[in-house]
Order: sequence, then structure tokens, then C-alpha cells
Amino acid sequence: MTNEELRQSLLMEPKNGYSRISEAQRAEMESYCKDYMAFMDACKTEREATAWAVAEAEKQGFKPLTAGAEVKPGDKYYLNNRGKSIILAVIGTESLANGANICAAHVDSPRMDVKPNPLYEDSEIAYFKTHYYGGIKKYQWPTVPLALHGVVCKKDGTTVTVTIGEDDNDPVLMVSDLLIHLAADQMQKTAAKVIEGEQLNVILGTEPIEGEGSDLVKLHIMKLLNEKYGMIESDFLSAELNVVPAGRCREVGLDRSLIAAYGHDDRVCAYAELAALFALDTPAKTAVCILADKEEIGSVGISGMQSHAFEYFMETLCDAQNVKLRECFANSFCLSADVSNAFDPNFAETCDRRNNSKLNYGVSICKYTGSRGKGGASDASAEAMSHVRTTFDKADVIWQIATLGKVDQGGGGTVAAYMANRNIVTVDAGVPVLSMHAPLELVSKLDCYETMLACKAIYLA
Ligand code: MN
Ligand code: MN
Repeated sequence: MTNEELRQSLLMEPKNGYSRISEAQRAEMESYCKDYMAFMDACKTEREATAWAVAEAEKQGFKPLTAGAEVKPGDKYYLNNRGKSIILAVIGTESLANGANICAAHVDSPRMDVKPNPLYEDSEIAYFKTHYYGGIKKYQWPTVPLALHGVVCKKDGTTVTVTIGEDDNDPVLMVSDLLIHLAADQMQKTAAKVIEGEQLNVILGTEPIEGEGSDLVKLHIMKLLNEKYGMIESDFLSAELNVVPAGRCREVGLDRSLIAAYGHDDRVCAYAELAALFALDTPAKTAVCILADKEEIGSVGISGMQSHAFEYFMETLCDAQNVKLRECFANSFCLSADVSNAFDPNFAETCDRRNNSKLNYGVSICKYTGSRGKGGASDASAEAMSHVRTTFDKADVIWQIATLGKVDQGGGGTVAAYMANRNIVTVDAGVPVLSMHAPLELVSKLDCYETMLACKAIYLA
């Protein structure tokens, strides 16, 4: 054997995905990404993603799961968890005792949330106080166009949906930054302190209402909100208003190979799971798709992945088949579908490039996340990794391996640990992202498409 033959038979040689997909697949990829971009324009919060998924599931014949429902092969059920997360299932031909094939993504993304008592006026400018949600570089959020999304539960018992800043005729909101001319002190600060949490105050307006009195700009803003939504100031106490980057997602690059959007993390995997689920015929094992909330703040709360809402859904299915939930979990597999960091040559020193995912190399499988000695990771076993890579290979999915940055550089987590805690074999995999958690994130179309194929392969495994 020559060294070249040896090399080919013994060594790995990862290839750019574009050298591996056919013309037909490229066309499918473009059409898939077009639909994905429309989803992203419609869904910027977990509430909007959940509402979108419910509406789409209903169109596809999914029914809300109720106790006592029959659960037979081909049946399609969903649980709308209080409008903030959703779990869907296509019932397989096999009993739930054999376990389910689960894909779990999250639909919340980093942003600024409006505080319970947010509205104030300072120097004749009206503002909202905010508290950021999830991990952000605070300095990235001033001077970008912002939109307000959410709901207000009013004193009269009704709930109104708020969306300001997305229609072309809407105004947008903004946080100011200090002019460079006076930034001598600011420029000496560390990036964590350049903009502080209590400076993320969102400008709402500057025109005082006519007449006498104090806080006339604030009063004007409250009057405008009252005219549009029928709300009064105390209604902020029972509201969820999220400040997110305004505007639509865009193709990026002269070759249009990338997509810029707010919140690819993790709606890019959520959409992949949903699209794959909706394309399924009756699978052998029951296919379960989870769009969770609160991942960015630890998967806590009633709509987070640690919530028993998941047990409630799965146990209702199992009860109908006279199967014990613990039996079902013990035989289930979960793909924790979440994004990884794409290798960025601008910041090469933060990564181990031999073990980092790259743009256009396909869905990235991540054995462990965590930080400082794998802390907090579920660390998938060799057997679990083997299951995933052979499943992807059989389905001709383009995949690669991922770790989150170099050792001791930082780290992160996903829902994987919470699924594994339930005695469900779990592996992380998802789309590599550039500028993760920035107001606009970048992904490659090829990786988006391959992640959808990866979810399909898991459902059919
Ligand atoms: Mn994520
Ligand atoms: Mn994240």
C-alpha cells in the first residue's frame, strides 16, 4: 500500500458540504431556507414560535392531546404549554414501550425584557427600563433598530398582542450610545462595562403632550399606548414585552450562502425539527418534537425543559397504550437540537480548530458542552455518539463534530442534561453559528438544510 492509499483508508478527511450535495439537493436547500426565513420573520419570541407551530400543526392534522384520547399509529398530537412552548408527536407503529425518538430545541433567544414598572421620563425623553434576558454583550444593543413584541394582560381581563417595529410603516425603538467625541472614559472600560445593564433604556419618544403639568412626554407615550392597545400604566405589571432587533432576515454574501437573522439560536433547529416532523409518514417509533422555552436562562420554569409539562404529555400518551412512562423514557433517544459556534478565523485563538464546527460542513454533533472540565455537560457516551453518526451516515446526512471553544475559554449548555436526567440517551447536534447571541447571527444555508435532514433521520431511526 502506498502512503496515499493508507491515508485514504485510515485517516479522516472532512470535506466542504458543497462538494457533496447534488444539484437537486441544492434546489431543495434553497427552497427550505426560503421557508425558514419566512418563519424567522414571523417568529421572534417563544410565544410567536409556539403560536406559529400550533397553527401549522393544526393544518397538518395534529390535535391537542387530552387525557383519555386514543393513541394509535399515525395519530398526531400536540401540547400547547401555555402559549410559550409546544410538544408534538406523531405516533409510531411500535408501542411506546419501545421508546420515542425525540428532537428537542428551544425557541427563546437573548433579548431585552421590559421591566414590570418600565415607563419613565428623563430630560423630556420617555424610556422603558429593561432587564436583559440570556447572555448578551450589552454593548451590541445600542444604536440598532429595535421592535417591541409581546402581550399585555389588562385589568379588564382581556389580553392584547403588541407588535411595534416590524411593519415598514411602523416606527422602531432604540437605545442610545455615547458619542465618540466624549467617550474618553468609556473607551477605557472593559467591554463588560462599556454599556451597563441599567443603561439599556429604550427610547420611546420626545414630544410632550399639550398643556401643563409634569412628565408630559411620558403622558403622551401612555396616551398613544392607550389609544392603540387600551392599556393603562398599571397593566405593565401583567405584561410580557420583549425588545428584539427589528427587521427581516437577509441573505448574506455575494454568493447568498449565509442567512443573517435575530435568534437563529435556536429557532434554526426548532424549524428543522418541525419541518422534518411535518414531512413524516407514520414512523416505526413515535416521533416527538419539542420547542422549549427558557433555555437561555437555564431551562427553568413551567415552560422550560426541566418542567414536568414534558412528563405530562408523554405520560398521557403512554397511559393510552398502557405503557409505563419510565419504560418509555428508558428506551427513548433524544437529539438535543441546538446550535454550536462556527469556527471564526477572526477569533481563531478562542477555539481548538481540530475540534470546532465549521460553516458548510453540515450539522455538528457535540459530545459535550459545559465549561471548565466539562462542568454541567451531559457528555454523551461512545455508544450514543455511535448511534447518531451511523444514523446520519445511513441517511446520507452531511455532519461534523463540534466542541464549544478551546478548553477553559468559556462554555455553554443546552437542554441535553435535562433530557439525560430523565434516563433518556441524549446527544447534542445542531447548526454552527457565527456571532451567536448578537442582535444578528449568521448561519449557512447548507448547514440549516442538513440539520433538517438530521432531524428526519433521528425520527426514522
Ligand atoms: Mn441554544
Ligand atoms: Mn443560546
